[in-house]
Amino acid sequence: MSTPKSKKSQAVLSLSHVSKVYNLGEEDLIVLGDISVTITSGELVAIVGPSGSGKSTLMHIMGLLDQQTSGTVTLAGHDASSLTEVEASKLRNKYIGFIFQQFNLLSRTSALENVLLPTLYNEDGGDKSVYAKKLLTDLGLGERLKNYPNQLSGGQQQRVAIARALINDPAVIFADEPTGNLDSKSGHEVVEILKKLNAEGRTIVIVTHDLELAKMANRTIKIFDGNIVSDTQKKI
Ligand code: ADP
Ligand code: MG
Repeated sequence: MSTPKSKKSQAVLSLSHVSKVYNLGEEDLIVLGDISVTITSGELVAIVGPSGSGKSTLMHIMGLLDQQTSGTVTLAGHDASSLTEVEASKLRNKYIGFIFQQFNLLSRTSALENVLLPTLYNEDGGDKSVYAKKLLTDLGLGERLKNYPNQLSGGQQQRVAIARALINDPAVIFADEPTGNLDSKSGHEVVEILKKLNAEGRTIVIVTHDLELAKMANRTIKIFDGNIVSDTQKKI
């Protein structure tokens, strides 16, 4: 297997004793209790658990979209525990790609421009439009570069989102219920794309309550009420 991006057994992301507590007036809502976990380069991980168990919150903290209440987050060797918003967005932009259930594309922006959005903040300033076109073409959207999201099917929109997640060659790709808004055929296509990206060496973390989707992962982390209750590796 060719693994251009993976350095085997290297920690990409580590959480140590991470908690997330919302203060709701009188009482505290503990959404994440005490999470310690390490994601290694090249892994395909599923984080599973029932609705409300804290999966999205965990993914947002792992992806530096949200800050933990306590504990530490280390991303690609950088301590990301107490960053300013600007510092967090720089790290996030460089190391992380996101795929969301609702696609989260900008509606008045073409497929190609959506894919290029994360590059607007890149410091190297290079033009990535050739690469963006290649990503979209590889995902079967070569004829759709100028289409707006509402001119694309759900499956096509999610493929645009996948291209957008890839544009900065991230160290980790997070996918939060990536098939949740798709019909079964498009959902299956997305699953196959994620598998292929992993086979090419990409590190992928999928968050889902769909056990069928989770089956594709090599490692399954179960969370319940904000804590990890099991973490199992598939035997090969
Ligand atoms: P999941 O993705 O597993 O369905 P979430 O991480 O979205 O779970 O939510 C976990 C819990 O945290 C839920 O009980 C939710 O209501 C609560 N929660 C999420 N965001 C907030 C917030 N901003 N304020 C208060 N509670 C929140
Ligand atoms: Mg969720």
